[in-house]
Amino acid sequence: MRTILTALSVAAAFAAGPAMAQAYPNKPITMIVPFAAGGPTDVIARIAADNMSKTLGQQIVIENVAGAGGTTGSTRTAQSVPDGYTIMMGHMGTHGAAPALYPNLKYDPTKDFEPIGMVAGTPILIVAKKTFPAKDLKEFLAKAKADGDKINEAHAGIGSVSHTTCLLLNAQAGLKPTQVPYKGTGPALNDLVSGQVDFMCDQIVNLVEQIKGGNIKAYAIATPERSPALPDVPTTKEAGLPEYQVSAWNAMFAPKGTPKDITAKLNDALQKALADENTRKRLLELGAVLPDKAGQTQDALGTFVGQEVARWTPVIKASGAVGQ
Ligand code: ASP
Repeated sequence: MRTILTALSVAAAFAAGPAMAQAYPNKPITMIVPFAAGGPTDVIARIAADNMSKTLGQQIVIENVAGAGGTTGSTRTAQSVPDGYTIMMGHMGTHGAAPALYPNLKYDPTKDFEPIGMVAGTPILIVAKKTFPAKDLKEFLAKAKADGDKINEAHAGIGSVSHTTCLLLNAQAGLKPTQVPYKGTGPALNDLVSGQVDFMCDQIVNLVEQIKGGNIKAYAIATPERSPALPDVPTTKEAGLPEYQVSAWNAMFAPKGTPKDITAKLNDALQKALADENTRKRLLELGAVLPDKAGQTQDALGTFVGQEVARWTPVIKASGAVGQ
């Protein structure tokens, strides 16, 4: 009897192995958003998670872990158990620019994560409060330069996309604004709309609605072509600052060591989301640029992160920004 039972439990254990792996996910997945709710990273995460949850048959719960330009939430993700139940929505700041700005950063974007996949490219715009006394980019730059630190720039913390891309703008245009850090550009945008801060550089997905509604001014988009989501906003080339070319992106990552079959399953769910008509529509209406099939693989993101860290390090050094 005993032998039979032992044999049975051994057989059960063998059966449970692959069955358990197949069962992923068997409980809700937490997706860490390293910024406040309502900003671009949060919005993109919620749209993607919505569709992915259906494919995976489990809820993806968004947890906003804001602070230190997105590096707090990224550190938390890198240090969490690599079992597929904690993943994150990173971006050009957390996984590209941050290492150059934080010499003591507790994670390496190229080594401490498993790439899941690129979600969206996000062109950068220069925007100001609607009462800012400048009708176009040239006037804005002249006024901002003349006013020096009397002008306030909102951003989402050192190393964030808004901080880094305005760092580039300030270096190129000779601006020295007073910087006002927020926990994300969602709350920063609220203050721009109410006129408490003067300007900001941010990802398009945060801005389309407020620009169309006339609640903020858009001086230029820093891409070679205008965006179909904002056809009236001139490019920086058209507006007189052609050297200011910069785009950001948002992508999903898991902690290093997350099993390959799990990250492959997450990538598959992401690719399905990016092929879903309603999900595409929601992202495109916000001005996001969706990756093509080749750009949706895990390997493509892994390679890209390495390139982004290499690209931003000299740019940040040249801008004269001091490490934290
Ligand atoms: N767009 C933001 C940034 O500047 C962050 C956010 O998504 O709130 O990095």
